[in-house]
Amino acid sequence: MNYIPVNEPLLDGNEKKYLLECIETGWISSEGAFVNQFEGQFANKVDRKYGIAVSSGSAALDVAIAALKIGPGDEVILSTFTIISCAAAIVRSGAKPVVIDCDPITWNMDVSQIEGKITSKTKAIMIVHIYGLPVDLEPLLAIAYKHKLKIIEDAAEMHGQTYKGHPCGSFGDISTFSFYPNKHITTGEGGMLVTDNAEIADRCRSLRNLCFQPQKRFVHEELGWNFRMTNLQAALGVAQLERIDEFVIRKRTMGEKYTELLSDISSLQLPLVKTTYANNIYWVFGLVLKDEVSLSVSDIMMYLKNNNIGSRPFFWPMHEQPIFQKMGLFNKESYPVAEKISRRGFYIPSGLALTEEQIKKVAAILREALNS
Ligand SMILES: *Cc1c(COP(=O)(O)O)cnc(C)c1O
Repeated sequence: MNYIPVNEPLLDGNEKKYLLECIETGWISSEGAFVNQFEGQFANKVDRKYGIAVSSGSAALDVAIAALKIGPGDEVILSTFTIISCAAAIVRSGAKPVVIDCDPITWNMDVSQIEGKITSKTKAIMIVHIYGLPVDLEPLLAIAYKHKLKIIEDAAEMHGQTYKGHPCGSFGDISTFSFYPNKHITTGEGGMLVTDNAEIADRCRSLRNLCFQPQKRFVHEELGWNFRMTNLQAALGVAQLERIDEFVIRKRTMGEKYTELLSDISSLQLPLVKTTYANNIYWVFGLVLKDEVSLSVSDIMMYLKNNNIGSRPFFWPMHEQPIFQKMGLFNKESYPVAEKISRRGFYIPSGLALTEEQIKKVAAILREALNS
């Protein structure tokens, strides 16, 4: 029986044609024309003035923190339920990550907990939209405005999503994206920073390129990274971007299909189809086992695996990461919602290449797993 991977991208548009163009012209480094084109078109898609392409979504977060001059003595508030890249970027800068819990239904940061964590050291809020639904931005932006806090928006799971009609990725002082193959559009590896601020955009460009100086190239006032995106990656990006609207529709159709097939299973918590501010775009189709299920997530994932179906557990909370505990961070802090969903949550195949037949198969096997 054929294996159904947790993710498989769709690369059947102009990807091959544009890649061939790179190879035939010899333009394969970050100096090639696709990089600029991708930056401009992507920024435009999310209503931003500037796009700065980088080598990954994680790199974009490192650059974002540095570009906003966040460092030792500063605090940044974020949800404990996120990927390591977010907290890692803060910690590496010398700043302190301050976490809050997430909402049990949307799995996004619980905005009502932000103000209780603001101190004189708080410099920014890092918004991370989770799994397909955006964070509730209106109250969050009001808090940020009131306390003069910067916003870093990690929209790595939100290409093509909107909040009250405005594109995700248009809300931060800097917003970031990833183009890893499980994201809505991919460049293999890659990322992007977007902003409307020319000065911040310049800082991002400099930081991704080792802080070479235009006049005295090899004299450095600051340390950057080589986080440049290659023309090969950008060529893929341009081709993928041509299809982003179609991809979002595909993802929504996938989510609707799974919802239809699984919603009668009362022991499973399904992703919310929509909130008052957005319709889910199902970056991944996440599920949480309710208390009455005696099986563990590993039991279910093993059952799926034995039936040739890939799956992944949910993120593990930042405050429970051994590396941060060793550093003395989050001492004895507890965030019950994140602790629970990280232990009881997992996601099933959700990639763009997933067929309806595969969706049906996954749903049927999952049903079997829960009855066994
Ligand atoms: C995927 C992802 C990242 C990391 O992106 P990479 O390109 O894999 O480094 C960061 N933040 C979020 C929310 C993500 O989903």
